Parts: sequence; C-alpha cells; structure tokens
Amino acid sequence: MPDDLTHGFQVLRAYRTLGVERSASEAEVKQAYRDLAQVWHPDRFGHDARLRAKAEEQLKTINAAFDLVKTERAGRRPTPTPKPAPRRSAQRPDAPAAERWLCPACRSEVTKGDKRCRECGQKLVFEE
Ligand SMILES: [Zn+2]
Repeated sequence: MPDDLTHGFQVLRAYRTLGVERSASEAEVKQAYRDLAQVWHPDRFGHDARLRAKAEEQLKTINAAFDLVKTERAGRRPTPTPKPAPRRSAQRPDAPAAERWLCPACRSEVTKGDKRCRECGQKLVFEE
C-alpha cells in the first residue's frame, strides 16, 4: 500500500535525521536525540537571527523525527519466533490419496486395475 510505503520512507528518514540505525537501542536513540537537540538549540545562536531561525527549523525536524521513531518503536512487533514446519501427513509419499482405491463392499484397499477385490471377491469398476 502506498501509504505504508510512504510511512516506511518517513521512518527511515527519521532514523537518518537522528543519525542512528533502526537496530539502535532505546538509550542510543534518546542519546542521539539529546545530542542533536543540544547542538541545534536556538539559544546557542542568540546573537544571529538568521542562524537562530535555521536552528529552530532543524530542531523541528529533529523533534518530528524523534516522535516518529518513538511511535515506530512502540508499535514494532517483537520478532516472531519461527514456527515449526508443518508435519507431513502419515500417508506414504509413494501412495498419494488419488491413487488409493477401496473396495465398495469391504472397504479394504485394492489395486487399481484388479478385476475383483482380493478380500471379498467384489467385482471392481475403476472410474476415472
Ligand atoms: Zn472387498
């Protein structure tokens, strides 16, 4: 879905803004955010209105990125444990169900092509 894709890109960009990997720990993300928030604090550029405005813009981007990363991490599902492979049925692989035929009279297994049931003598008709 395009919305999910866009969201995914936004999340990736948010991590890049903070300068951390998506696999980074909670502490690493917070540290990265705190560092950036300090670096770009507008008060540091108090003497220069132009730089101050730039820093404010940068801080907005950093805050938005941090919010997005926090939300993404809160909603991230734990890595699913792999399920064991489904067990194969007990049926022998050389005897697929379609090729097994039962005598209509005694329900014993018969071989396709046999004229009569070996158990009860029932006449057999094999329909394709
Ligand atoms: Zn039979």
